[in-house]
Amino acid sequence: MVDQNKIEEAIGLLLEGIGEDVTREGLKETPARIARMYRELMSGMEEEPADYLSRRFSVESNEMVLEKDIVFYSMCEHHLMPFYGKAHIAYIPDGYVVGLSKLARTVEVFAGRLQIQERLTAQVADAIMNELKPQGVMVMVEAEHMCMTMRGVKKPGSKTVTVAVRGIFEEKQELQNRFLACLGRQGI
Ligand code: ZN
Repeated sequence: MVDQNKIEEAIGLLLEGIGEDVTREGLKETPARIARMYRELMSGMEEEPADYLSRRFSVESNEMVLEKDIVFYSMCEHHLMPFYGKAHIAYIPDGYVVGLSKLARTVEVFAGRLQIQERLTAQVADAIMNELKPQGVMVMVEAEHMCMTMRGVKKPGSKTVTVAVRGIFEEKQELQNRFLACLGRQGI
């Protein structure tokens, strides 16, 4: 559970640390405002992917299901700065599918925690494998990291691409290729 009092206290200290006057007009409400904001940004701390993936529907044919361009916003755990972009998910059912919005929900659950992009990608793939139990899943995440663009190496527009493959996607290169072709890509 997100402790808003602690966050409020910490932001007050952060402002003092910067050398700010925490009593001035513009900053008076800032610690409380940020505490409320973090509750929203870290909403994934209070959710599990099973909340969304446990409701399955049976299907006759096991054709690839692909949901692309799932927009997400997350926070990097190294700098507490946003990273954001798109996730693409494909899976080969094994008799069952989930509602399409549930794939986006699964991304939201994990994006709503402090993250690194590599782990976010793997967690989405593993949650789908564990809950839906398809024949295989492939997840690609492309994101821009504010900690790369606003500070440090300052490379605006640069994107980090991460991929996770599980099950039948690991064994069959042609399935990976089909997924990439659906995204309009020739390779990773
Ligand atoms: Zn970072």
